[in-house]
Amino acid sequence: ILYNMVQDLKGSIRVYCRIRPIFNAKAINVIDFIGDDGSLVIQDPLKLQKDGRKNFQFNHAFGPTSTQDEVFKETQPLIRSVMDGYNVCIFAYGQTGSGKTYTMCGPSCGVSMDMGINYLALNDLFRISDTRKDLINYEIHVQMVEIYNEQVRDLLAEDSSTTKYPLHWLFPSQLWIFNLEIRSCTGNGGFSLPDAKMHTVSSPSDVIKLMKLGEVNRAVSSTAINNRSSRSHSILTVHVCGKDTTGNATSSSLHLVDLAGSERVDKSEVTGERLKEAQHINKSLSCLGDVITALAQKNPHIPYRNSKLTQLLQDSLGGHAKTLMIAHVSPEGESFGETVGTLKFAQRVS
Ligand code: ADP
Ligand code: MG
Repeated sequence: ILYNMVQDLKGSIRVYCRIRPIFNAKAINVIDFIGDDGSLVIQDPLKLQKDGRKNFQFNHAFGPTSTQDEVFKETQPLIRSVMDGYNVCIFAYGQTGSGKTYTMCGPSCGVSMDMGINYLALNDLFRISDTRKDLINYEIHVQMVEIYNEQVRDLLAEDSSTTKYPLHWLFPSQLWIFNLEIRSCTGNGGFSLPDAKMHTVSSPSDVIKLMKLGEVNRAVSSTAINNRSSRSHSILTVHVCGKDTTGNATSSSLHLVDLAGSERVDKSEVTGERLKEAQHINKSLSCLGDVITALAQKNPHIPYRNSKLTQLLQDSLGGHAKTLMIAHVSPEGESFGETVGTLKFAQRVS
């Protein structure tokens, strides 16, 4: 049994990488080779003559022409296991502009072309729920929050920009007085956000409506503090409750996480708010890396408590949960340093 559990744990962390298309035709492309087996070779643009090639290995590598459907196909088995009672966590990691939001949401949240994992996943859950409806009655609920500077804000609170929190407009810096508390849930050792609005969804159009609401709420804060969305983690949590005809109930959750940009900021250049943001991001991303590495190494102590992000996701990281990290890469030469950092981080957790 122990052997099986260890095997199970090892197989429960997967790492993919996705390279977005190059937009500037004049830019140098650092991608040298993408293998069908998940191997990736990049070339240091400053060491073209010498051997500036670096090799990486992932469970899968998606090239710049990969489609949303191809990425989703490799993700689908994980999403399906949520319906069988597994907790699942999917992260989009990478520097700002590398395609994280494109993978999770799409080119713009709420439209019907090139929808990302968030929408496709929920769509799939509805479809499975429908095929099993004679045996199991599923209920699907969603919450969406953002973590910024170690504070948690509800992205699906209705009318948060007007009636409920009018202070947003007058005092943008007061936005975070609505910091939600993470509470331990009884029984399963996990944590939850009881104060974040929980919406019941039963159709793709319900989901689109909520994604739009989430996007509006996120935009409110981004304009208040310049382009903050790349400096916060956004988490869409899907709770699935299934009850069979004999009354047995199961519950599981799926967390879909668009992480804050992983780029390092030059400490000599930043001060004040920007420095504080950078420190919070560095800390929470490195905590995430530590947790996943500790899980992969079967370390007895898993440092979940070191950040809000890992604390909130605790019941979906480790144990019988399944984790997928999608490392995103910008192929341009000028991003080479960040690309190496991203791929090293991803390789460390795989
Ligand atoms: P991030 O969320 O990591 O900051 P975005 O997802 O916003 O990055 O991507 C930056 C830009 O590149 C956006 O305009 C997005 O639509 C585009 N983009 C990203 N990945 C792809 C892709 N695989 N195919 C086409 N366009 C992409
Ligand atoms: Mg983004």
